Amino acid sequence: MHTPRAVLKNVFGYDSFRRGQEEIINEMLSGRDVLGVMPTGAGKSVCYQIPAIMSGGVSIVISPLISLMKDQVDALRSSGINAAAINSAMDWDDVRSVLWSARAGKTPLLYIAPERLDGEGFREFLSSLNVNIVVVDEAHCVSQWGHDFRPSYLAIAPAIGSLSRRPAVAAFTATATEEVKADIIRQLAMDSPFVLTTGFDRENLFFQVEHPDDKMSFLLDYTQKFPDMPGIVYCSTRKKTESVCRELVACGIKAVRYHAGLDDAEKLKNQEDFIYDRATVMVATNAFGMGIDKSNVRYVIHYNMPGSIENYYQEAGRAGRDGSPADCILLYGAEDKSTITYLIMQGEDKSTRETSFRKMRQMLDYCHTSGCLRRRILNYFGEPFQRGECGECGNCRSVTERRDITIEAQKIMSCVYRAAEKTGGKKYGPHVIADILRGHCSNASRKEQVTRFGLDAISTWGIMKDTAARDIAYIINFLAAEGYLVSDEFGALSFTERSFPFLKNKTRLLMRRHESGQKPKHERVPDKTDAKRGFFSGGVIDTLLKTVSGKKRAVFSGELFEALRKLRWEFAASEGVPPYVVFSDKTLQAMCDALPSDEYEMLSVPGVGRVKFEKYGHKFMEAIREWRER
Ligand code: ADP
Ligand code: ZN
Repeated sequence: MHTPRAVLKNVFGYDSFRRGQEEIINEMLSGRDVLGVMPTGAGKSVCYQIPAIMSGGVSIVISPLISLMKDQVDALRSSGINAAAINSAMDWDDVRSVLWSARAGKTPLLYIAPERLDGEGFREFLSSLNVNIVVVDEAHCVSQWGHDFRPSYLAIAPAIGSLSRRPAVAAFTATATEEVKADIIRQLAMDSPFVLTTGFDRENLFFQVEHPDDKMSFLLDYTQKFPDMPGIVYCSTRKKTESVCRELVACGIKAVRYHAGLDDAEKLKNQEDFIYDRATVMVATNAFGMGIDKSNVRYVIHYNMPGSIENYYQEAGRAGRDGSPADCILLYGAEDKSTITYLIMQGEDKSTRETSFRKMRQMLDYCHTSGCLRRRILNYFGEPFQRGECGECGNCRSVTERRDITIEAQKIMSCVYRAAEKTGGKKYGPHVIADILRGHCSNASRKEQVTRFGLDAISTWGIMKDTAARDIAYIINFLAAEGYLVSDEFGALSFTERSFPFLKNKTRLLMRRHESGQKPKHERVPDKTDAKRGFFSGGVIDTLLKTVSGKKRAVFSGELFEALRKLRWEFAASEGVPPYVVFSDKTLQAMCDALPSDEYEMLSVPGVGRVKFEKYGHKFMEAIREWRER
């Protein structure tokens, strides 16, 4: 195993590097410090594991959570690499044997929590090792500017400084603004590091926003169509989490719940059931997810709109870490806005409220745009989207369902303008504007306001009599999302620099139709020839694959996939590791596609390395053979 590529193939079973990996590995092997900023699922671990395996000495990996360490160590061991972790849950005898093995040079990767470095004894022990590389995982934890600051990360630089020979330092994170990047370099005392930032785009994720009348039936429909696919459903409150989980369970879905109000034992149990594929759906508040490395989450459905795009992308990003297609669906309802407004007013003081409202508005815009959702997200993070539109998200794919709303938009915008004109520049929220347009006030206080200011006498009074208030509100939200109107922190509307040109030029405006009661598009219609092998058509994931590859492919279902999944589960259970540590969904799927029948073919399947082949290869080939003969 003399080259990084050979290690990639033999240990990890992959043929080629992903974006950025090879560059980082080569820089690390040359002894240079490295900062890698790559999105979740991009493959950061391989970037430091390969140099660690090749470097000969010990690499210390500092990781913030026991669960993350355990996952990594399990995965490396299952590929034949003798990695180890030291954590606070271990007794002294175990710690000692790990330390001895490291000192004897038998442990290429040693994972520790940052708190370890506080102890004098441990630092002394470190100096007795041949430490070649120190890796700092989740490096944003070192920055006070970051959202997960961990004071013990500040002990890393002094600990490195106290070693007799300075090792190369490599830091990795998925989230870093320029400020945080500079902070990481400074706090870790990195020495003119090679900095690599790959984009934020996660190509395998499918984004969609739905406005269902009945969120629960949408969710049931979806989960019942994909009953064996692991997924996360995020809710905004504990109460909602409870009720959604209860309903799913009542309908036969293997769902578990997670929120901060549960006792630790239940949280741990539910989390493990989900990670080990004993439960299929995790219904949770945002308390769930940090440090969860489960790579085969096939969808993340937001039952409620989160408070900001940062939060949304972080939570949705827990889908598809293995690089296989996964759905990120947001179910929007008008009540979501009130919930968040309430949470902000209750939980925050004046100084942060304005920012929170701004973030909420950007999130609302995401829910109401007809434009490309992927581009929205990337632009939000300051990344231009080269392709213009992705062509694959829910909005890009629904071009045919767009409706011309030019006339309605003109009426609404004129109304906003006239109302302000009438009352000396005063601004009004969407409800008052809708009432004026409909020529009818839906409650007494608004009626009072409207008559007092003479708004029932302006030229736009009653010009949209026949349109439902809800539809008007929808178009207003759309106009705000597309920048034709802007609303302040109280929701009051005013013009932007796009407003007058629009009215003047009568630009044609198309809006994606979110009809009430809209049926989800992913009807699962297995067809006869494909059923056996595992194809089904029409699913969101399936359609995505078709769009991407231009041809039909098997997608995580069908007899063979299930048989392999079962076998994987048996291996995982007997080894006490999560199933995705044995093989990822993507690898199982590749087996379904390739139907390997000998060693050479099996080793060509991405994710099957030498050691895994020895351990599992024959059993999996046997299962494939049995299925073929059936
Ligand atoms: P991150 O830490 O960046 O979130 P991981 O290191 O967990 O991502 O990698 C995500 C998944 O991608 C893992 O299943 C990993 O085995 C896989 N992977 C990493 N590098 C490659 C590669 N070069 N080819 C194919 N799959 C890869
Ligand atoms: Zn798109």
